[in-house]
Amino acid sequence: MSTPQVVTRFAPSPTGYLHIGGARTALFNWLYARAKGGKFLLRIEDTDRERYTPAAAQAILDGLAWLGLEWDEEPTSQFAGAERHRAVANEMLANGSAYKCFSTKEEIEEYREQAREDGHQNPFSSPWRDADPADHPDAPFVIRLRAPREGGVAIKDMVQKKVSWAASSFDDLIMLRSDGTPTYMLAVVVDDHDMGVTHVIRGDDHLINAGRQSLIYKAMGWDIPVFAHIPLIHGEDGKKLSKRHGATGVEEYAAMGYMPEAMRNYLARLGWSHGNDELFSTEQAIEWFDFNGMGKSPSRLDFKKLDNVSAHHIKIASDQALTDAVLGYMSAANIPMLSDSQIDDLKRAMPYLRERSKKLPDVLEKAAFILSQRPIEKDEKSVEILDSVSKRILNGLTTAIQDASWNHESLMQASKTFAESENLKLGELAQPIRAALSGKTVSPSVFDMMLLLGRDETIARLEESST
Ligand code: GLU
Repeated sequence: MSTPQVVTRFAPSPTGYLHIGGARTALFNWLYARAKGGKFLLRIEDTDRERYTPAAAQAILDGLAWLGLEWDEEPTSQFAGAERHRAVANEMLANGSAYKCFSTKEEIEEYREQAREDGHQNPFSSPWRDADPADHPDAPFVIRLRAPREGGVAIKDMVQKKVSWAASSFDDLIMLRSDGTPTYMLAVVVDDHDMGVTHVIRGDDHLINAGRQSLIYKAMGWDIPVFAHIPLIHGEDGKKLSKRHGATGVEEYAAMGYMPEAMRNYLARLGWSHGNDELFSTEQAIEWFDFNGMGKSPSRLDFKKLDNVSAHHIKIASDQALTDAVLGYMSAANIPMLSDSQIDDLKRAMPYLRERSKKLPDVLEKAAFILSQRPIEKDEKSVEILDSVSKRILNGLTTAIQDASWNHESLMQASKTFAESENLKLGELAQPIRAALSGKTVSPSVFDMMLLLGRDETIARLEESST
């Protein structure tokens, strides 16, 4: 018998943004599917109609697309499957694994209060479980699963290993509400089954759901998927991740200037490891990915580490990829787009911009000199540097280099000779040159700037600042 193709899925509720935890869940599902030559499906769990908007769902797709986690096949809507979910609930009624429960909300609340008073936590046990259908009233009802009362419920989990619960700790879960709408518990099982999902990889806040959901699979005689419940992401202080820890939405990371490639590397390492490898490509992650490398305790968001990972990917990206990433960042951060010739200049300057850049805004900041036009806008520090002494020096330097061959070696030689004649160190020359050429205190080296700007533009900028 051949093993079936691996099918994973990401099943977000459309909250209006892709949460960083959801992004990591999606990444693990995507990595596993790609590692096994399987499929990665997307299902939007849009059954909460009060909160649902198409834009909220689109934001999730946009987040995944930005991260480069392409999904296979058309995304499905859980809400659209309601008819099928109802049909399954009715099939279970017919095969005896479910029953109609007429208990009212008040009765259930009364039971709970009594349980509190009696000091036990036994779940609600419906009096209709064993009722004769002939005694059913003509009243609203829910459809409940007839869950086993005896023994244990066990699931196999690739991360948590074998997990089990006493059957008596589960109530007869509701699958269809009295208005006929399916619950999440039913919908998720039916959808996963119908989509052929072989591996359910999600946050460990769903672990207990897996136990309860396994009972629906059994009642329908369906194969239970393999589960992998991954520990959640915590903040730097070890507490559950929330807004106060910093960005939680993927689009915020895009706007901060992290590259998708770096985010994939960083998110993969949040909970998963491959030996001591911290920095890797997505291709390597696909090659290495398995659940043996998955930790069992929550991982912590660590911005310092993220910056290191980010700096690495900025360093190794091709000039084209890095240019595209900077443009992507500009659009995420609502920075006005560059012209085609500015984009060409940016790409040309990339080898000098990437050094010591942690995030894409660092690259862009260093690119300011090549993206600006005369008159060069000067920051406060540069204005200060360009005093009368500096102006006189720049004047002399302009004369000294204007007829030099325009290459690193000759420019350096001419500047050195000039510096010596003025009793200056080369370093002392660099400050006013930097201020004149870039208007900033952060830029590539002055000779690199001269080469990128070319003779005419360099001389023009020096002259502009020497008068
Ligand atoms: N829609 C659920 C959530 O966003 C996930 C359900 C699942 O993965 O089974 O938490």
